[in-house]
Amino acid sequence: HEQIEPDPTKKTLVILGSGWGSVALLKKLDTENYNVIIISPRNFFLFTPLLPSCPTGTVEHRSIMEPLRHIIRHKKASVKFYEAEATKIDNERRVIVINDLSDVKGEVHQTEVPFDYLVVGVGAENATFGIPGVRENACFLKEINDAHKIRKTVMDCVETAMFKDQTQKEKERLLHMVVVGGGPTGVEFAAELQDFFEDDLKKWIPGIADDFHVTLVEALPNASSHVLPMFSKTLIEYTEKTFKDEKISVRTKTMVKKVTDKHIEAEVTHPDGRKELQTIPYGCLVWATGNAVRQVVRDLMSQLPQQKNSRRGLAVNEYLVVDGTDGIWALGDCSATKYAPTAQVASQQGAFLARLFNSMAQTQNLESELNHLEEFSAQAKVQEERESLEREIQKKSRAIRRVKQLSPFEYSHQGSLAYIGMERAVADITWFNGNLASGGSLTYLFWRSAYLSMCFSTRNRVLVIMDWIKVKVFGRDVSR
Ligand code: FAD
Ligand code: NAD
Repeated sequence: HEQIEPDPTKKTLVILGSGWGSVALLKKLDTENYNVIIISPRNFFLFTPLLPSCPTGTVEHRSIMEPLRHIIRHKKASVKFYEAEATKIDNERRVIVINDLSDVKGEVHQTEVPFDYLVVGVGAENATFGIPGVRENACFLKEINDAHKIRKTVMDCVETAMFKDQTQKEKERLLHMVVVGGGPTGVEFAAELQDFFEDDLKKWIPGIADDFHVTLVEALPNASSHVLPMFSKTLIEYTEKTFKDEKISVRTKTMVKKVTDKHIEAEVTHPDGRKELQTIPYGCLVWATGNAVRQVVRDLMSQLPQQKNSRRGLAVNEYLVVDGTDGIWALGDCSATKYAPTAQVASQQGAFLARLFNSMAQTQNLESELNHLEEFSAQAKVQEERESLEREIQKKSRAIRRVKQLSPFEYSHQGSLAYIGMERAVADITWFNGNLASGGSLTYLFWRSAYLSMCFSTRNRVLVIMDWIKVKVFGRDVSR
């Protein structure tokens, strides 16, 4: 497979990122048509829907990672991978500046990669809205390292709370787990953490039983403020009720304004509209308030006047071409479309771009065949030969028209699913053009089977099943 030099007869297609969008594209792309180069700071695909299960050990981190090398190896033609971060996309010079982020530094750790076609699938970063102290003190939940950091912080809090002669007040602070953001990330993680406490921590470290407490903080200011805004009203109510049963405190209308190493300061809106600034002590703070645009994307946007009014990411047309560019596409969380920033959208966009690139290459091949046929036909002396070539030409022209008829990207929503703790899940599923909303233990089984079927590979699937069995039989590990 290994191809040392790029084939000069083919266009160079650079794909940034190894997440949902880029990997869906790579999976379906006929790589033999291009010199394909993937650039990403991580050399694996991460199955984010099960990431909230990782810090508590319900699922092991390696079970939801798929090495990019496995994916590349199965492609027909060679694909190059550079583990690096793209720091600048130069639209005019058609090059990308890349930086090797690894701790082991080689002689060269910054260079440029030229491209003919570029797909930007770098995802988004964590939104902090510039709130002071968040970056320094909070944990996030986006990448596998975030899961490790949460795990370490939770166990540190638990063991420090049990330190000899610890004061009761400090014990309560250390064991207060605060999750900010009532979107699905915040809800799912709060639920997993409470399960960890109820099923395992309480059993092995009974001394924390009275003080361990999970609080979910959500800012939404209006009267209908609720957690999980993407689900139907009944499922939101069901989630809130389940959280009550689980003894997770949900504090809506509470907007965090400042974070220090031991407290959050939040503006609470009371039912009568009165606002109050409250200081809430915490031991572990998990920040899950959604997405912000990455620096490399902001920089590309600043090079393009057509992106002036776009806020959420790269504005694209209906074929995902970045407005103001020629030969640059964007997909997933780094693009601004009418769809929510979800894995479902990103992977469908990836599959769409694969079809687009495959048909672009097919068209080029057919067009060059057509040119040859036209040349032969012009030179043909015998009537019969000319007629047969004419028929071939018409066939090719029809094939080109067919291949070129790729309709714009359209998203097909399959539904939303979320785990809410105590072996319950909620689901809003699209079913025969209608909607099916359900919540409870049966939905939890459905949630599990749906996520299993969505796992990247059989290897991932088997590992996740083994993790679930392990937890059922032995409980979760309470070591650091
Ligand atoms: P990502 O999957 O984030 O991939 C971005 C890639 O770009 C990564 O490989 C990253 O390393 C790379 N990258 C970053 N910076 C650079 C750079 N400068 N240069 C090159 N590469 C770079 N969605 C659902 O539909 N269902 C769910 O159940 C669900 N659960 C979720 C749970 C959690 C905890 C989280 C955080 C998200 C969840 N989502 C879910 C949302 C979903 O994960 C995202 O919408 C999806 O990952 C977006 O795909 P993407 O390809 O745009 O970005
Ligand atoms: P989100 O944007 O869905 O939710 C963030 C929440 O944080 C909002 O409700 C917002 O009001 C709140 N918030 C913002 N600032 C705040 C502050 N200062 N104080 C208190 N609360 C504040 O973010 P998410 O949950 O990370 O989800 C990101 C994307 O990933 C979404 O599109 C989501 O649908 C998707 N996702 C889906 C699933 C799933 O389907 N199960 C799971 C996780 C993520």
